[in-house]
Order: sequence, then structure tokens, then C-alpha cells
Amino acid sequence: MPLLKQIAEQLRDADNFLVLAHVSPDGDALGSMLAMGELLDALGKKVVLFNESGIPRRFEWLTPKREILTRLPEEEPDNLIVLDCGSAERAGELIAPWLKTKKVFNIDHHLGNPMFGTLNWVEQRASSVGEMVGMLARKLGVPLVGLLGEYVYLALISDTGDFCFNNTRPETLEMAAEILRLGLLPGPFHEQKQSTGKLSQLQMRGTVLQQARLYADGQISLICFTRELFEQTGTGPEDTEGLVNTVLYVNGVQVAISLREEEQGIKFSLRSKSSTNVQTVAFRFGGGGHRNAAGGTLLMDMEQAKATMIQAVTEELGKS
Ligand code: 5GP
Ligand code: MN
Ligand code: MN
Repeated sequence: MPLLKQIAEQLRDADNFLVLAHVSPDGDALGSMLAMGELLDALGKKVVLFNESGIPRRFEWLTPKREILTRLPEEEPDNLIVLDCGSAERAGELIAPWLKTKKVFNIDHHLGNPMFGTLNWVEQRASSVGEMVGMLARKLGVPLVGLLGEYVYLALISDTGDFCFNNTRPETLEMAAEILRLGLLPGPFHEQKQSTGKLSQLQMRGTVLQQARLYADGQISLICFTRELFEQTGTGPEDTEGLVNTVLYVNGVQVAISLREEEQGIKFSLRSKSSTNVQTVAFRFGGGGHRNAAGGTLLMDMEQAKATMIQAVTEELGKS
């Protein structure tokens, strides 16, 4: 039986779900989780949403109708639905024991997902996990209207870079069209989504862009966010979102690297133009992601991280 049908049937036949997505959630993680909550609601199921790191400030405009727990609920669910997690670790530490004892629906689209669930539906071609939740909704006869439509749309635009990346399939645009037909207005939706920045964020990003550098004959661009800069400008890790995409579009650049100082180590984000695979680079350093967008953490200081990433990406460019 095709997996989509199998998952749809099992969702319809089961009850008592805990739905979660990866830590530091992005638009796909939150969008797919909230959409799954709406879908299960529409089916009359008992559902709890959980994310170990909570909702980031830039998504506060979403105002979900039910709380997203940051601690495990006292009442244990029978089923876990794990969304947009390329590996079990991405779900966070708190949930780890239940991943071993409960029925786990692993619904994801990352390369190299190790199939950690009881049921694993890993669709690498799907633009986003939100698109997969949309497919489930269709299968179960639930229309992509209202909040369900908004949440799926958020996931679609987040993971496709507003329908610009290669993962934008005809099916992705057909789903977006269906959501628009059912009433979503893209203008107000995008305005709400984008109007979350502060002036301090803009100015900090200006400083980082001024310090952007090119390497490997202009094929690599690099930006760095230091804790010192965050302190000086009253900003934080939240305010770095998406800037790495901006530096990818310098003419001649094939790979953009963003490095961000964390309490422990350096969080790296990689973005590449279509012909270069950065997932393999991230994977080498214990991270992961997709062919053209990947990330991870390096336990070293900023200077070492710079040298390490530039070298690893240069080697990858040599292969393509
Ligand atoms: P970002 O650079 O925006 O944090 O992440 C880009 C992509 O890489 C996302 O698909 C995300 O799931 C993946 N990614 C980012 N950080 C990590 C990480 O620490 N581990 C793994 N496995 N994947 C990551
Ligand atoms: Mn994600
Ligand atoms: Mn995703």
C-alpha cells in the first residue's frame, strides 16, 4: 500500500496524538506542525502540540489557537507525529525517551533520514513537510481552507524561498493555487510574515553585510555573526534568519556560508546554487539538510570554523 494511504488510514483509525517538529523551528517545522494540529482537529482527534524551543519571536504573529508546549504533557499520548526532523536528535532531548517507546510517525523530506519511526514517510521530492501534510489532508477529504490552508502555505513558501528554489514542483504550485482558490490572500499574508523585524535588526544585518567576504576566486561568500555584535546592537540569533540567502546571490558565488557564534561552538548555515551539493559538506560535520540548504554546529572558535568551512566547501566545489 502506498505510504500516503497507509499513514492517512492510520491517522484516521488512531487517537491521542502528540505532534512535534525540530528544535529552533523554521516556517516548515511550525507550519507543518500547526497544520497537522488543524487536520487532526478536523478529524475530531485529541491532539497536543510540542516544540522544545517554543515559537521564535518572528512567528509570534501566528497566534495559534492552542498552546505549543515546551515541556512534555503529564498525560502520555499513544502516538507521536514527528515532522521535518532529518534525524531523531533534531526533535530535541526532552522527547527522546518517548521516541523509543511510543508509536512514531516520522514524516519528513530530508536526505539521509535514518527512518527512526515506527512508520516512516520520507518524501525527498516534497518541497516541505507542509506539502506532505496538505497531501494527507486531501487524502482524508479535509479542504485546505482557513487556518489549515494558511499553515500549509507558510510551510510551502518557507522551504521553497517563496517558490524560487529547485524544490518548487508543479505539485507545490498546484497546492498553493488550491489554497488561494479557497480564500488565502497572499499580499496580507506575506506582509504579516515579513513585518516582524526591528530597526536594530536591520542595522546589525547591515554591519554583517559590510563585512561579507569572498573566497575561492569569488565562488564562496561568507558572513559572520559574533556574540559581541549581538551585544553591541541589542540583537540575537533570531535576527540572523535568511541573511545567508542574500549573500548567495552575489554574481559568481556558488556557495554562501553563514557562521554564528553560539554559547557552545559555531552554528553554520550553507546555501548553494543548484549545481553544488552542500548537504554532503554539512553531513561531514555532523549536520544535515538538503542539497542546496544545509547546516550544523562546529565545536570550535570562529577563526577555526571559518578556515574549516572554507576548506570543506572549496573541496566540494572541486568535485562539481
Ligand atoms: P539553516 O541553515 O536554515 O539552519 O538550515 C538549513 C537546512 O539544514 C534545514 O533543512 C535544516 O533542517 C538543516 N539543518 C540545519 N542545522 C542542522 C543541524 O544541526 N543538523 C541537521 N541534521 N540538519 C540541520
Ligand atoms: Mn525545517
Ligand atoms: Mn522542511
